[in-house]
Amino acid sequence: MKHDVIVIGAGVIGLATAERLLLKGASVKILERSKVGRESSWAGGGILSPLFPWNYNNDVIQLTNYSTKLFPAWTSALRKTTGIDPEYETCGMLMLPPFDRDAAIHWCAKHGINVEPRIIPDSTCHIENYIENANKKTHNQTLLLPDIAQVRNPRLLHALKKRIVQLGGEIIENCTVNQIKTSQRQIQSITSSCGEFIADHYIVCTGAWSSKILGTHALKLNIRPIKGQMLLFKFAKPPVRTILAQNDLYIIPRQDGHLLIGSTLENVGFSKHVTVSARNYLLRGAQNIMPELERMPLIRHWSGLRPGSSNNIPTIGRHPSIRNLYINCGHFRYGVTMAPASAEILVNEIINVPQPLDITPYQAGWNSN
Ligand SMILES: Cc1cc2nc3c(=O)[nH]c(=O)nc-3n(C[C@H](O)[C@H](O)[C@H](O)COP(=O)(O)OP(=O)(O)OC[C@H]3O[C@@H](n4cnc5c(N)ncnc54)[C@H](O)[C@@H]3O)c2cc1C
Repeated sequence: MKHDVIVIGAGVIGLATAERLLLKGASVKILERSKVGRESSWAGGGILSPLFPWNYNNDVIQLTNYSTKLFPAWTSALRKTTGIDPEYETCGMLMLPPFDRDAAIHWCAKHGINVEPRIIPDSTCHIENYIENANKKTHNQTLLLPDIAQVRNPRLLHALKKRIVQLGGEIIENCTVNQIKTSQRQIQSITSSCGEFIADHYIVCTGAWSSKILGTHALKLNIRPIKGQMLLFKFAKPPVRTILAQNDLYIIPRQDGHLLIGSTLENVGFSKHVTVSARNYLLRGAQNIMPELERMPLIRHWSGLRPGSSNNIPTIGRHPSIRNLYINCGHFRYGVTMAPASAEILVNEIINVPQPLDITPYQAGWNSN
């Protein structure tokens, strides 16, 4: 591929897209408003699955299923080439009630997803006995999805940044793209806080800010910021080995004893303020599942802005009327999970090769309300 490409935005989506373009031989520049990977992609939890996946439509599941299959080889190659381990780990996810367990089992069978109907202490799922005790009353209503994995997203972002530089990509930080100049249904140049840039193709990967940067070219694209707050604890060693999920709350154990609690879903514009009410809500929910947390100090509380989209369906591909403009945006709650597949789909479209799945759902965003 002989093209010059500019990628705007260095979150997980922009970085994964840039890496794939570089592997195909393109010359790539990434323009990032602040530092690489410090927005939603850094703030997130790194669970590689929709929470309670049976609640999502097939367009989400098709993309997440395909993408999660790419993760082992992708993260292993990143680890080998950069020396940075994104800590991809198949840790399983334990679903706690209330949820419709029979419908969930039926859905998993239909989609070929492994389930373990009961928690078996000391089994391969590594769930400690005390989780069973804590959930005695509702124990029989839990369900383990043993094949669900996680990645440590800040490490994935570091590895991607290093890999892009290794492959000859140029990353320009502290560079805010302000304007897209078009004529004759084509971008002629873009202007930014660090000058004007010209390329063959332009890819917008600016997450929650995508509608803003596209201006009138956003058409009916409806990407909006949805804030999520997270809490962090640190244990001497992981108190559980499996992700725990209950309603919108989840607990993610990292290999070094860090424990993340997420998250809220707040439609409050571009504010990233953390709030006492969200902290208390998350603490209460997490302590209810894991009483040990009452004795642990909270070490960090942060938030990020998800690129919210209708039904969690991203928009990936060429602009309907501007030939050299592409977007890869709107991954909402599952952008880390969807990253490698979204990068593959976008690059396939640019180089005009067949897609691995039906991409029509990911091109409908331009016309949505
Ligand atoms: C609390 C929370 C928990 C989450 N948990 C998970 C999870 O467990 N699993 C999962 O799969 N997903 C999760 N997500 C969602 C996931 O993080 C997002 O879907 C994903 O990070 C979106 O990636 P992105 O690259 O599109 O956006 P971002 O990471 O936000 O990157 C966009 C980049 O564009 C840059 N930018 C914006 N405007 C401009 C401009 N004008 N010029 C130049 N650069 C610009 C920004 O600075 C930013 O770096 C979570 C998100 C949050 C907030």
